[in-house]
Amino acid sequence: MAYCVHITLPGGVTAIVRMSGKRPEPCRCGKTATKLCDYPMGGRKTCDRPMCSDCIGRTDGDKDYCRSHAGLVPGQGSLL
Ligand SMILES: [Zn+2]
Ligand SMILES: [Zn+2]
Repeated sequence: MAYCVHITLPGGVTAIVRMSGKRPEPCRCGKTATKLCDYPMGGRKTCDRPMCSDCIGRTDGDKDYCRSHAGLVPGQGSLL
């Protein structure tokens, strides 16, 4: 099932992004979540905490991590 999310890019441009899969839960702050935490939780599971673009703790390549897991991820990355 696909769905669309509206995101605001720097400069105030609004874009509609078509996402595939199940619509994630909203972010804890109430905004539409556009990312899920990719932190491995053991086995093949990941944290999957929904995050909006303002609440992402860390992005490392194509992985995104919630704020509670951002400090636990080894390797390079920009801490927001
Ligand atoms: Zn948020
Ligand atoms: Zn997480």
